[in-house]
Amino acid sequence: MHDAQAETMVLVCQVCGEEMRVEENTDLEYIAYLWTLESGAKAYQPTPRDVFVVVNHPHGVEGLIDKRTGERWLERLENGGTPWQLTGTG
Ligand SMILES: [Zn+2]
Repeated sequence: MHDAQAETMVLVCQVCGEEMRVEENTDLEYIAYLWTLESGAKAYQPTPRDVFVVVNHPHGVEGLIDKRTGERWLERLENGGTPWQLTGTG
């Protein structure tokens, strides 16, 4: 058993009300996952299981909100331009 625990957050689907507990950085991982799909590049690191939790949800990520703040899940990414950086490509 590992003692280290990642910070988690609860996403709520506005369509069906389902709650999903994922790691807080799953939005960043999700964007990285999309990037690898679009570019065809190999992922620079394994895609966390939590990404597939939201990807596999039938109602899409646009309807997901952060249960704690009530904000849309990807709000900070959409407002921040390009907050994520891919590194180690060389
Ligand atoms: Zn749903």
